[in-house]
Amino acid sequence: MLQFQHWLHTNDIPLQELQAQWLQEKAVRLHVLRLDEVHPVISGNKLFKLHYFLQLAKATPGKAISTFGGAYSNHLVATAYACKMNNIPCTGFVRGEKPATLSRTLQQCDEFGMQLRFLHRGEYAERCGLFEQHEHEIVVPEGGYHPLGAMGAALIMPYLELLQPSHICVDIGTATTLAGIIMEAGPRQKIEAIPVLKGLTDIPARLKYLTGRSAFSNLTVHDDYHFGGYAKYNAQLLDFMNDLYRSFRLPTDFVYTAKQAYAVFKLVEQNYFVPGSNIVFIHSGGLQGNASLPAGSLIF
Ligand SMILES: *Cc1c(COP(=O)(O)O)cnc(C)c1O
Repeated sequence: MLQFQHWLHTNDIPLQELQAQWLQEKAVRLHVLRLDEVHPVISGNKLFKLHYFLQLAKATPGKAISTFGGAYSNHLVATAYACKMNNIPCTGFVRGEKPATLSRTLQQCDEFGMQLRFLHRGEYAERCGLFEQHEHEIVVPEGGYHPLGAMGAALIMPYLELLQPSHICVDIGTATTLAGIIMEAGPRQKIEAIPVLKGLTDIPARLKYLTGRSAFSNLTVHDDYHFGGYAKYNAQLLDFMNDLYRSFRLPTDFVYTAKQAYAVFKLVEQNYFVPGSNIVFIHSGGLQGNASLPAGSLIF
């Protein structure tokens, strides 16, 4: 297991088993890898995806990091906090005009010492995917979408070694986390991937860029669970999130992990998993994003 920094709880990431009559009836086991518990700010997959970029920056004292994200970006706030803890100067390029009041996410970025720069959408779109290394700065693409980000995400897999799941479920934004997992998965482990964007049709090309490989016979993409598109939601999803919390004390975020959990539950209900399946659902964090929901939407 990789040694992350002492301020992170990476030595004891919980694997929570969800226990319910209906899961027993289907004869499947379902665990959740609670990456959301690694740290309250730099939670979930973001820590892993950032790992090698941080290492690169730390190798040269004074080297800065800049990266990209929207007003509610989990990636921006995680980068801001990680840079603060490692004494790395950092800049966040934010999509769109500067708003009259900053979102809570951006306020936090600012508190952690990230310089915020607002980019018009066109310029943002042109620059947000770039990886660059300069003498005094590393430019990290939005969401860590780069082979180095995938290598970092691969560091999640040792946490599943004891469980030896038959199915690993993961949600997809940029597919960087999926790429890391798929690189390390055994040939008999099935990967069930749930895009949270509508019409994400270029997953094979993304995986090729991120991993250098192009054939993944153990991957299934389930693309009916985006709830209308990125960050879209409805009352059904919020009800599901509240039920999940009531039944299992499992908090999820409406952008990513709730959609994944919803998909996994539906797949179990539809007998997609054969009896005896040992399923793990990667809780990729992101709970801070729920602050953008209307007050009172959630019971947690
Ligand atoms: C950023 C994020 C993702 C997306 O991960 P990718 O590696 O971009 O696919 C998934 N879940 C949560 C909670 C996130 O914050």
